[in-house]
Amino acid sequence: MYDVFIIGSGVSGGFIALELSKYNLKVALCEKSLEPCGGSSRANSGIVHAGYDPIPGTLKAKLNVRGSELMPEMAKRLNIDLNICGSYVIAFNDADDQKVYELYKRGITNNVADMTVLSGDAVRKAEPNISDKVTSALYARTTGIISPYKLAITSSELATQNGVDFLRGNEVVAMEDMGGYIKVITNKGSYDTQYVVNAAGVYADKIANMLGDNSFGIIPRKGEYLILDKNESGIVNSVIFQVPSDMGKGILVAPTVDGNVLLGPTSHNITDRDDKSTTKPGIAEAVAGAKRSVPTVNERALITMFAGIRAVPSTGDFIIGQSAANSRLFNAAGIESPGLTSSPAIGEYVVKLMAESGVALEKKKQFFMQRPAEKKVCSMPPEEACKLIESNPSYGKIVCRCEKVTEGEIIDAIHRPAGAVTLDGVKMRVRAGMGRCQGGFCTSRVIEILSRELNVPETEIRKQNEGSELLYRVLRDPEAKQ
Ligand SMILES: Cc1cc2nc3c(=O)[nH]c(=O)nc-3n(C[C@H](O)[C@H](O)[C@H](O)COP(=O)(O)OP(=O)(O)OC[C@H]3O[C@@H](n4cnc5c(N)ncnc54)[C@H](O)[C@@H]3O)c2cc1C
Repeated sequence: MYDVFIIGSGVSGGFIALELSKYNLKVALCEKSLEPCGGSSRANSGIVHAGYDPIPGTLKAKLNVRGSELMPEMAKRLNIDLNICGSYVIAFNDADDQKVYELYKRGITNNVADMTVLSGDAVRKAEPNISDKVTSALYARTTGIISPYKLAITSSELATQNGVDFLRGNEVVAMEDMGGYIKVITNKGSYDTQYVVNAAGVYADKIANMLGDNSFGIIPRKGEYLILDKNESGIVNSVIFQVPSDMGKGILVAPTVDGNVLLGPTSHNITDRDDKSTTKPGIAEAVAGAKRSVPTVNERALITMFAGIRAVPSTGDFIIGQSAANSRLFNAAGIESPGLTSSPAIGEYVVKLMAESGVALEKKKQFFMQRPAEKKVCSMPPEEACKLIESNPSYGKIVCRCEKVTEGEIIDAIHRPAGAVTLDGVKMRVRAGMGRCQGGFCTSRVIEILSRELNVPETEIRKQNEGSELLYRVLRDPEAKQ
């Protein structure tokens, strides 16, 4: 019997699991995908928002500001990069100027530090590639950039290291209230638990419905993006937003923490919650929006495109807390933007609400605060790299040439707690396949390594989830004599 069964291992589920792993509780983190973070946490802008955008008094406002405060410490503990590069919300006319000033005032009310309203010329001095049509901007120094999937994966990894059971490839299909506990039924079996935490992203309303909670709905809203090659880096130094609308924060041009340039997202409501396709009109819209802010954007430097689905709540705010329909259910639902930023604060807040509602929380004697550092051979000083390669030659074999990832690093990614089992799992953890050639050279090598390390046939290695195997059959028996 689990004490707490968390459904969904995006950033919300990951940080809730990490927070719960400080206590003497038996916790499961259940994910329908084969890797942590199959939903929005995998595909978004990766911005740690300063907190001037959410309406004062909302949970979004409170958790955004707290999350952005917690993020630097969390990034250190999880050993992932965070770059506090600042952001500009740019205006193009009088109406936008007015909105910029409103955002500034909202930020003050939300207790956001270090904001200034600048003239168009002052913005162009700091960001020379910005449009000469820009009339003013809100500068927020505390805005940052982070890898969203690394945040989700590493929070799940550290939770697992602290004793949480990561149940991958387990899709919750039904739940039954058994009186004294809840039976959670997945495609792989059933699990009994005292409490359920619903962090199922775009499916959170369906999960709540399974325990009779029909109090909210989720509207899926798609955003399409382009990623430009690293040789475009430097086109902007900080995140460039346009003024937000009812459909979101608008199309941005931003550096990524890994040195690429991000353009997007679009914002359109959709009906299919799994529609992560990119489209010609969507990409054209993202390029046009980005060029409005930075006319010199070079879309020909595109290396890949992707789409993410926002989980827009019918209530207009994050839905976090004990369900009125079933006291064994806690929702962390409707976590649209700024959910990534808020995630460490969501973990803290959910566990506080659980304690207040009577869930017994007794601190563990041993809790690992720090996720171990990863070995990144190509960013090590040469003497350190040489020593490492002498002790283990797999760190001397480059597998991904674009991102300079070695075999040793891929092996580590596979054998870490809640480690990689798919090509995308390796890609999200160590960036093999994320570079200019998008896996053209390394895919077959990564398949070989996964197959060898996990002891499964190459034909069973998947890109992402079941049904995404890349190899159909072996043409030649490698053991056979030529
Ligand atoms: C286009 C876009 C841009 C964004 N930009 C930003 C940004 O710059 N900054 C920011 O702060 N926020 C941003 N966000 C919001 C942010 O991405 C989300 O708030 C956050 O990722 C939500 O995390 P989550 O864990 O709640 O949900 P998810 O990441 O969606 O995780 C839910 C998980 O539940 C799993 N799941 C679903 N159903 C089941 C089931 N039946 N059984 C088991 N598992 C299940 C899914 O596979 C998934 O892994 C953006 C979102 C989008 C889409």
